[in-house]
Amino acid sequence: MIDVVIVKTKEDLNIDSLELGDVHRMHIQVSDNSLGVPWRVPLVIIRGAKPGPIVGITAALHGNELNGISTIFKLINEIDPQELAGTLVLVPISNVPGYLMNQRYFLDGVDLNRVMPGKEKGATSSIYAHFFINKIIRKFNYLLDLHTASHGKVNSLYIRADLDNEDCRTLAYLQNPQIIVKKYDENGTLRGWANDHGIPAITIEIGNPNAFQHSLIDETLEGILNTMRYLKMIPGTIKDMVTDDTTVCDHSYWMYSNRGGIVDVLPDLADEVSKNEIIAKVYDVFGQVKEEIKAKHSGIVIGKNVRPNCDAGTRILHLGVNLMEPNPENIPGHSDYESDSE
Ligand SMILES: [Zn+2]
Repeated sequence: MIDVVIVKTKEDLNIDSLELGDVHRMHIQVSDNSLGVPWRVPLVIIRGAKPGPIVGITAALHGNELNGISTIFKLINEIDPQELAGTLVLVPISNVPGYLMNQRYFLDGVDLNRVMPGKEKGATSSIYAHFFINKIIRKFNYLLDLHTASHGKVNSLYIRADLDNEDCRTLAYLQNPQIIVKKYDENGTLRGWANDHGIPAITIEIGNPNAFQHSLIDETLEGILNTMRYLKMIPGTIKDMVTDDTTVCDHSYWMYSNRGGIVDVLPDLADEVSKNEIIAKVYDVFGQVKEEIKAKHSGIVIGKNVRPNCDAGTRILHLGVNLMEPNPENIPGHSDYESDSE
């Protein structure tokens, strides 16, 4: 028989009231649903016996991005609260309605990671965002926000971070990722809000949606433990912060098909491609090539489409590039910048 602890629901997260050296599980109430009862966000709080920072880790802010949930579950098993310095606040499911509907978006079809910090008196998603930020995220000293690619796409393990911010750069390098993409504090994202409010934050993109991919999950876990060593929350040697395997990109953009048909994307994730290399072919239903899509710059493949049936204007390949180009006006695909996968 497995013992399961009864989980309490609380109005607010009061970290100081929680006993040191223990693991606490609870729901925090956010906005009301149509039954007139609050949505309840599940939290696991590991309160170390020793003093240290409060590190928050959020997963499934897009409800079908699930690798972060397993990462958090594995982390819980790695940590002994008696040995921990500081507090871990783990949020395995951030977008509760989206998770229940197995979809990226919130109930009202809005992307929660575009409306942060929300409004107390706003749209359905905005009210949820407001209480999520104020009851939970505001209590953190650091934030790691775990995501994946969106539906029909696959991702490598990569980091989005504002590399001009010293703390964010350190957090990014501590993950030892395949790829880091330099992203500034985009409007409406959880990461952007946190950075604007003195909570250094990065986004960790872990593979594909709707799945548990244990090799990527284990790599992500290793990065989180490395971060905790750096913050002196757990003992141990910090692993190399920059390896030769890490590619840092100053920009990234999606390439699109112009024609509809059956698309075959040629390079693999994390492959390097050269300028003018053919990265995808679009076929008609008779097997004839209608379009060859060429890379506009040399770069590295961050993500790609894996759903062959494509309409005209489908996202085909997410390319990380180094342009030394400060003006995003000159970056292809910039108009779709806001709807990127973070
Ligand atoms: Zn996401």
